Amino acid sequence: MTSFASIPPDCDAFPQEADLSSAGSAQARMHEHAAAATRKEFGKKVFVRAVLEVSNFCRENCTYCGMRRDNVKLSRFRARHEPLAEMLLLHRPASVTDINIQAGEDPVAVREVVLPLIRTLRRETPLGISVCLGTLTPALYRELHAAGASIYIMKFEVGEAARYREFSAPGTLDERLEHVRLLAQTGWSVSSGFIAGLPGQTLADLRLNFALARSLPLQGCSVSPFIPGDETPLAAAPTGDPNWTLNSIAALRLMRPDWIIPAVSALNLMEPEGYRHGLRAGANLVTMNLTPDDLRADYVIYQRDRFIMTEERVLDALAAEGLEPSQTGLADHYGRRIAGDFSGEPYRAPVKTA
Ligand code: SF4
Repeated sequence: MTSFASIPPDCDAFPQEADLSSAGSAQARMHEHAAAATRKEFGKKVFVRAVLEVSNFCRENCTYCGMRRDNVKLSRFRARHEPLAEMLLLHRPASVTDINIQAGEDPVAVREVVLPLIRTLRRETPLGISVCLGTLTPALYRELHAAGASIYIMKFEVGEAARYREFSAPGTLDERLEHVRLLAQTGWSVSSGFIAGLPGQTLADLRLNFALARSLPLQGCSVSPFIPGDETPLAAAPTGDPNWTLNSIAALRLMRPDWIIPAVSALNLMEPEGYRHGLRAGANLVTMNLTPDDLRADYVIYQRDRFIMTEERVLDALAAEGLEPSQTGLADHYGRRIAGDFSGEPYRAPVKTA
């Protein structure tokens, strides 16, 4: 079997278990190949997206998440649209080109907060708009798209049906994948994601995530390290092996050189400098958190002690790795790719009439 440590950086290849667990010099070589593949496709530019967490209500009960419905110790919030809109219109950091609006699976928040916020942003700003809102109805997906969002983040988290059930992930894996396909067929750019290092996960299990991601109509994929969440059934489980996460980022990049792969802030909960390590392993999207301080403490996917990426931290991490924030937004990048426009001029999506 060819190891990722010895293949050229532009190879569209599938990882072996040894790649996913590699350490030392083999790992360093694989990450260098992944970084080279990223630079070849995207140069030194890294997309900068802000995340806004608008509700921590959730009707689902994933055992790896602190926002699960059975966590009665969590005080729940649903943000109001007006102050968020004001903050984004008047005070957003200059480097932000895109916003990701995120919530637990909470259709009430979609109607009361997310839709009005998207309409305001679409009317008043050139920001690209992503959403990460869970499994909704086709009608609600249509409304969100017509309002002006164009990227849907729908993570499958656990790429094997029995394990998916075991972790009480939303609905069934088949259902989740159907929604990924439906979104892609109805005009969304779709990104997915999975967790590395879940309790009981083997390297063979981890590898299944790649086969699944490769089979889906995706434009990007994330890898999150397993961090045991406070007040979850997995609170006493060990944190996932950092190498599995970082190697998975590198392997995704080598499998799909053109995908958007984020450096998630949880990388810094996994190990100091984990975020920068993600950028060195092939990530090309950074996220800064714009959730208002008074709400952020209760948006607890992992632990209350979160590592918050501010604009300063994000730009410092990029500069330290010799990288630069992209002036082109992510939604513009996807739009241009779909339109087959490689002119380099700023791309503006056609105005929607729906
Ligand atoms: S992972 Fe998402 S769907 Fe699952 S409990 Fe947490 S917020 Fe809800």
